[in-house]
Amino acid sequence: MYSKSINRLIDSLKKLPSVGQRTAERFVFHLLKSGKKDVGELILSLKDLVDNVKSCEVCWDFSDENPCHVCRSAGRDRGLLCVVGDPQDIHAIEKTGIFSGLYHVLRGVIEPEEGGLDPKLKIKELLARSSPKNKTALKEIILALNPDMEGETTMMYLEREIKKQNPKIKISRLARGLPMGGDLQYADEITLGSALKNRTGK
Ligand SMILES: [Zn+2]
Repeated sequence: MYSKSINRLIDSLKKLPSVGQRTAERFVFHLLKSGKKDVGELILSLKDLVDNVKSCEVCWDFSDENPCHVCRSAGRDRGLLCVVGDPQDIHAIEKTGIFSGLYHVLRGVIEPEEGGLDPKLKIKELLARSSPKNKTALKEIILALNPDMEGETTMMYLEREIKKQNPKIKISRLARGLPMGGDLQYADEITLGSALKNRTGK
């Protein structure tokens, strides 16, 4: 039986993705052995994260500024919007160096078995950005969600809803080539870059 303080941290760490009891225990005992300086640095980084990182209320990426530097940049193509599931996908796409438009982060995808839309998804916000009422400059929306069942369901839903309110807008998807069931953020730059370049749509 571990002490109360040790159990408390184990329980907190277990809330992280892919961390179970054993891994959480390993982290805690590693920290106990690693000395005050390393642990202090971890505490400061966590505090910095909580105090300084906020949501960009335009694209819903996480950033130290709101709006973030991409949304504020004069050098980006405002006619082009790339929709991704997670903030890390932006990082993957930026690394390809071939995309110069803006982003929209959904903060997840539609989970078909859950029934009904998760209100935390930034779908309403996406529809507001692409609405003609908004005098949007958008000409094309690229749906760049993971090539799996949830991603596919979400893209079909978005395509229908966006077209309903703005039939003139072009909607495209990444070209095939990304492994089915794979994760965009782990795709290599060349594959992702060519999937973007060869995107198809109407
Ligand atoms: Zn932004």
